[in-house]
Amino acid sequence: MDEKVKTPAQLRRERLLDDKKNGYDRLSAADETAMQSYCEDYKKFLDAAKTEREAVDEAVRLAQARGFTPFARGMMVKPGDKLYRVNRGKALMLAVIGEKSLADGVSIGAAHIDAPRLDLKPQPLYEDSELCFLKTHYYGGIRKYQWVTIPLELHGVVVRSDGSAIRVAIGAGMGDPVFTVDDLLPHLGREQAKKPMAEAIPGESLNILVGSRPFKEDEGADRVKLAIMDILNQKYGLTEADFISAELEAVPAFRSSDVGFDRSLIGAYGQDDRVCSYACLAALMNCENPAHTAVCVLADKEEIGSEGVSGMKSAAFDTFMSDLCDAQRVSLKTCYEHSFCLSADVTAAYDPNFAEVYEKANSARVNYGVGLCKYTGSGGKSGSSDASAEVVGFIRRIFDQAEVIWQMAELGKVDAGGGGTVAKFMAERDIDTLDAGVPVLSMHAPFETTGKLDCYMMYKGMKAVYQAG
Ligand code: MN
Ligand code: MN
Repeated sequence: MDEKVKTPAQLRRERLLDDKKNGYDRLSAADETAMQSYCEDYKKFLDAAKTEREAVDEAVRLAQARGFTPFARGMMVKPGDKLYRVNRGKALMLAVIGEKSLADGVSIGAAHIDAPRLDLKPQPLYEDSELCFLKTHYYGGIRKYQWVTIPLELHGVVVRSDGSAIRVAIGAGMGDPVFTVDDLLPHLGREQAKKPMAEAIPGESLNILVGSRPFKEDEGADRVKLAIMDILNQKYGLTEADFISAELEAVPAFRSSDVGFDRSLIGAYGQDDRVCSYACLAALMNCENPAHTAVCVLADKEEIGSEGVSGMKSAAFDTFMSDLCDAQRVSLKTCYEHSFCLSADVTAAYDPNFAEVYEKANSARVNYGVGLCKYTGSGGKSGSSDASAEVVGFIRRIFDQAEVIWQMAELGKVDAGGGGTVAKFMAERDIDTLDAGVPVLSMHAPFETTGKLDCYMMYKGMKAVYQAG
């Protein structure tokens, strides 16, 4: 019998069953090449964008190089225009104007550029036992024990009493010092080791060690603290009170790296959700003459509930869209009700080391492509916008037509926990929205891991949405 002739059972199996193969068994040679160069660019973005402010700056720099210009209220727009608007330095909206009217709706990719980290408290600096520390208040869902004894950088902005703002990025430059939070030695950790993980490292002990050398020839108290303030004053012109009007974020001092002998994975800080942010941005920058206007939103504050002026709940997005609609004399409501949003945010990758929390058949797997999530939330889908079958069907068709490798995904077992994204805030605006994202191992850890194939497929999927007719 000819080996190429398939049996009736084999033919039925292929036609009827949804047996997906590993993405690497389906990846074309052209996609393989594109994937490798895309991932090199993505890693550069990760290293340049360790905070939401840096992500905005880097995205604007890249977009300007591709011909994007600032969009101001009242400007006329025409098909092909490439526009952007920065929201308070911490969120960004970009658009490529399509051939069709905004009344026909827009295609939105919405991702977030904030990531879990240790923020400094407003009055952080103190000395204890001739060691100097900065007190922190963690931001987002962290597992506190992961943030001790790793090198940290300090990034952010300080607004001095005269109103001038100073940008800070210590630890990122060659030869820079780094900082760290210390932990107990195992020899004296007997009692700590008995505690539940969530209690072993209390939030108030996440204090960053920043110095130990006392100020010379001084008889007063807190000589180490004085010496540190002296350094900060000489370098940045700061006084202690300036910490009050500062946003300083301690982030892991790791650069992005290939992971594995086969270099098939990327390890880095903040891939949730810069992996999808970069995919949306890159897809928009490479989107030529779209039928529908293509919009990319890079939002802040997702990790604490999408709150605030720079979060996805903010009217800043509606104002941007409304200003665009005004340019075509279209009502915002009409635009929204015909729009589609891919809420691009990471999902949990199935981890065989913790198999008990996953339901394997409905978990995203590394190298199986973009994970589509019909719903997020926790318990009985609480807090989820739960996309309709029609919306899932729409994306399934677009992805298949564009040969995007994708999979369906749930975060984990029904009762194991849960999570949310910006999806529900887009859906609340009367915009059809579906979650989709890259599966991540060790999500919210200082060093998160993704598959290169999945990172690239997120870009390819987003581009397919932008280019859909
Ligand atoms: Mn996220
Ligand atoms: Mn997250």
